[in-house]
Amino acid sequence: MRKNIVAGNWKMNTTVSEGVELAKGISNAVSNGINNAETGVVIAPPFTHLYAVGEQINHDKVCLAAQDCATEEKGAYTGEISVAMLKSIGVKAVILGHSERRTYYGETNETLLKKINLVLKNDMKPIFCIGEVLAQREAGKHFDVVKEQIESVLFTLSADDFKNVIVAYEPVWAIGTGVTASSEQAQEIHAYIRKLISEKYGTEVADNTTILYGGSCKPSNAKELFSQPDVDGGLIGGASLKVEDFMGIVNTF
Ligand code: PEP
Repeated sequence: MRKNIVAGNWKMNTTVSEGVELAKGISNAVSNGINNAETGVVIAPPFTHLYAVGEQINHDKVCLAAQDCATEEKGAYTGEISVAMLKSIGVKAVILGHSERRTYYGETNETLLKKINLVLKNDMKPIFCIGEVLAQREAGKHFDVVKEQIESVLFTLSADDFKNVIVAYEPVWAIGTGVTASSEQAQEIHAYIRKLISEKYGTEVADNTTILYGGSCKPSNAKELFSQPDVDGGLIGGASLKVEDFMGIVNTF
């Protein structure tokens, strides 16, 4: 059966020393068995922190993730960070298609296709983000939007590759706004996403796919959201920056 996962997306926050302290706090809490050992714990610090954080965490208990990667394998791409570089320092997962990257940095389905294939080729796990903006939700177009995002990128993958994908449904209107999707709204669209996966790859693959919810998730609302049958954990922004808040969400399971 699929794994429950709580993943922290630190975005562009913390200095390296602050990040190392945060990571150590999470790693210690997880290693001391405070959380349910079945729940996967992922942290995604900024690129500059990954090596130092990787030196301090228990990699058996905490999965180190990056927030993005380059579209190309290597070469003359000033400022970019390749998947091979990430892999060489113990990174095992990469967040792809976050709405902030789609909106502010022009991330497209074409660039995401290149990135996801590189991540999978390097035996790492993509955490692939999808979700609609408020106007699309208000127009009742949210199902169509996530369908298009899934079909254009994820459904180009073979079933074997798709099995390594973690999907994160993040309604853009809920990210960093303090407004959370209701548990009914989350369940409704997570079930729809799982149905699409089932139609494409079969029920076994769909049942084994982890689908995370993201958008103003915090200790006070995680229980309600995670109790939904198709919500398998969360991608957490703001509340991943404090050990107590993040562990409060991890310990929901
Ligand atoms: C995110 O950025 O993926 C996110 C869910 O942010 P927040 O929890 O702050 O809404």
